[in-house]
Amino acid sequence: MEPTREEFLHFAAPEKALFYILVFSALALMAWQIKDRVRLWQTGRPLDDSKLSPGLSYWIPSREAATVWLRNIAIFVLGQKKVRSSRKRSGAPMHLFIFYGFMGLVLATTLLGINTYSPWKYHKGLYYEVYESSFDTVGLVFLVGISWALVRRFFLTRSGHAIVDDAKERLEADPNLAPQLLQNRRAPLSSSLNDFLTLGLLLTLVITGFWLEASRISNNPQAWDRVSYVGYAWAQVQGSFSVTAYKTVWWFHTFWVLVFFIVLPRMRIRHIVNAFFVAAGKPETPMGELRLVSMEEVEKTEQVGVKLAKDYSRWHLMSLDACMECGRCTEVCPAWNVGKVLNPKQVVQEIRTAMQSGEEVAPRITEEALWQCTTCNACTEACPVLIRHVDLIVDVRRNLVSEGALSGTAATMLRQTASTSHAWGQPASDREDWMKGMSIPLCRDGGDFDYLFWVGCAGATDPGAVKTTKAVASLLTKAGIRFACLGKEEACTGDPARRIGEEFLFQEKASHNVSVFEKYKVKRVVTACPHCFNSLKNEYGQLGSSLEVFHHTQLLSELVTKGDLVAAKPKRGDVALHDPCYLARVNEEVEAPRSIVEQMVTPPESGKKTLCCGAGGGRMWMEESPSQRPANRRAEGLLDTGATTVAVACPFCRIMLGDSLKQARPNDEVRLVDLAELLWEAQPAGKSGSAGEFPTAD
Ligand code: SF4
Ligand code: SF4
Repeated sequence: MEPTREEFLHFAAPEKALFYILVFSALALMAWQIKDRVRLWQTGRPLDDSKLSPGLSYWIPSREAATVWLRNIAIFVLGQKKVRSSRKRSGAPMHLFIFYGFMGLVLATTLLGINTYSPWKYHKGLYYEVYESSFDTVGLVFLVGISWALVRRFFLTRSGHAIVDDAKERLEADPNLAPQLLQNRRAPLSSSLNDFLTLGLLLTLVITGFWLEASRISNNPQAWDRVSYVGYAWAQVQGSFSVTAYKTVWWFHTFWVLVFFIVLPRMRIRHIVNAFFVAAGKPETPMGELRLVSMEEVEKTEQVGVKLAKDYSRWHLMSLDACMECGRCTEVCPAWNVGKVLNPKQVVQEIRTAMQSGEEVAPRITEEALWQCTTCNACTEACPVLIRHVDLIVDVRRNLVSEGALSGTAATMLRQTASTSHAWGQPASDREDWMKGMSIPLCRDGGDFDYLFWVGCAGATDPGAVKTTKAVASLLTKAGIRFACLGKEEACTGDPARRIGEEFLFQEKASHNVSVFEKYKVKRVVTACPHCFNSLKNEYGQLGSSLEVFHHTQLLSELVTKGDLVAAKPKRGDVALHDPCYLARVNEEVEAPRSIVEQMVTPPESGKKTLCCGAGGGRMWMEESPSQRPANRRAEGLLDTGATTVAVACPFCRIMLGDSLKQARPNDEVRLVDLAELLWEAQPAGKSGSAGEFPTAD
């Protein structure tokens, strides 16, 4: 006889009928709850088909759309890309055990179902033996993952309580600390009773599953039972079973399966199912591109941005339900890490609650938290289910700004940008001051050029950033690159305005710049500011521009590779690199900085996982309590490397870290430079100048 097993062993027709009635009732209850969620998602805006992947836009996808869906599912769900790159040392493997165990069990159950209810009867022979041992293996994998999660949650919750106790003591000792400290500290580490019940249910499911297998073997032993090795071993311990005992275990396991179906839409493990849809339809726009708000949209909705959750897109609403409350986003948030109110995990939960209740979004999150975001995208990068926190936050900011809720120094910056086209309010003529004594070609002089050197507001007028600007201009000159600058014709890219939420000021400045690009037939741009770089590269296309945009480290890296410049090689350990968020994380450029200055050391949070200096999202222009500056934490990390020079590749980072480095080491001489300066110093002296000397106008 071939190895196999009989389905519904010892079950008469009425028992089978009862089973089907119960299963269909449980599935109906599950479907009813899912329909409720889908109805909530559908209150959102339809997706912008031209910019977002066609997921959710069509019930029947085109071949191109289906390819995108499948690719995203393969990478982000089946490949677990985000989880594998997680910073959590024990969290990531645990999650992989649960995911692959769960998927294995679903696949095995589906195969069994096809065999039972279709004309194809393949559950026998060698297939059966492989199937049974694989089923036991994935069950064990799932069991290990769930047990690991239970233990981990238990200890994390205890350490969460320890942190809360510590926060209480700190608050008692210093009443000036933000009173939100307690709530703020508790959130990312907490576990609710629901979490333990969910894990308990999953544990029960898998254990009763093995018990059922063992009971079948105990009741009806076969020569090939060893292939079901877990159940077989269990059966050896429990001895023989009567039919009644076997049926009791069968119903006991079935009961928990039915409970699982009914509560699945309410349990966190629903994210495994949601993640398929979220990944399939995920926006295909780059991380650094914010959505364009059109005047037509404003006229139609009679508002700017998001007031109620239904003002988000359907995909963004659906993504909220995929949140597994893992807290990865909060753990990496620079604002949360310096004791601010902002907690990205809580932002997602509050918007989810607003989606259910119909309340306004901003009051739930609080304006204080909304303005604290630096738009660094660390949360987005860390989120395993692809939630785009920055999209969620900026769209609410847009609504607040349109209603006049922004005041103080940030509002002053917006007025300055509007009136002078310079974020610090300096007149256009000041944009050419840095050129004095140098021979810098200007577009308006009419010469040919291959690259527009985009200087930016800080690059033109901030004393530290001007050093970078001069170094870049000198390097381009030395390498024989034909470049030109716009000088007083350059206007702020509008990046700070857009990220604060003043969308139409961004569009006004960007439209002006695009028309200047057209006037001079600009094709390629190089800039030393990652914020300008991101905006020009990823967002100006929304206003009709098509440019090839380079960060200065990228172009300089090319020149080093070609042999037109010599890479800098400081003594190993002398220079610590701070990766800018908008270069390394948002635009995934990690190699270029390291290729122009070799042998740099980095703090643990580097590359795509770099730690924000606190300047992005308009925070540069907002008041900051000295004890809550993200740059202080970053400066400590950089100094802990033991380096005596800190190298940056962003004028904003340079401004923020300058103060923090001085504060951290008031008596130490810590040098703060841009990579371009180090590269310039490394060039051999020649006709066009050498270390520290910028080429002058002849
Ligand atoms: S938003 Fe993403 S990273 Fe944050 S808790 Fe939810 S699933 Fe985790
Ligand atoms: S973008 Fe940065 S600052 Fe804003 S919530 Fe995310 S991690 Fe925090």
